[in-house]
Amino acid sequence: MTKRATATTRRRGNKYGAQAVYACDRCMQTITNPDNHPSSCAGEPVRFHSKTEARYWLVLRVDERAGVISGLKRQAAFPLYGAGPRNGKPVTTYYADFVYFDQYGDYRVIDVKGQDTRVSQLKRGFLQAEYGVTVELVTKGQGK
Ligand SMILES: [Zn+2]
Repeated sequence: MTKRATATTRRRGNKYGAQAVYACDRCMQTITNPDNHPSSCAGEPVRFHSKTEARYWLVLRVDERAGVISGLKRQAAFPLYGAGPRNGKPVTTYYADFVYFDQYGDYRVIDVKGQDTRVSQLKRGFLQAEYGVTVELVTKGQGK
């Protein structure tokens, strides 16, 4: 792959057309280009699939720092086995955008979606069956 092709791919964003966004939990900014991150900030911008997801994470980080929530993780992996392991391995893996324990100690699983798909619905169904957790969907424009 040429450098030019890589640049084109990056500009197009993800498969749903959303532009990848970087967020810094120190200066609390979202930026489309990490090179634009202020050098005066000691924070490290993290890449997200969309602006909605990036903003959601910043809000969760504030809650985490305030001690309101705990155990915050990004891209939490849930191996899905379906009817059982296939050659000892999961059939597929569900990656939740965020998981955390809320102020009541309840485990929360969040998925930020521009567009829901049948495959995603199917994976959430297996997640519910195998882990007993219900995914909360956050769509564009929906704040926390
Ligand atoms: Zn920063």
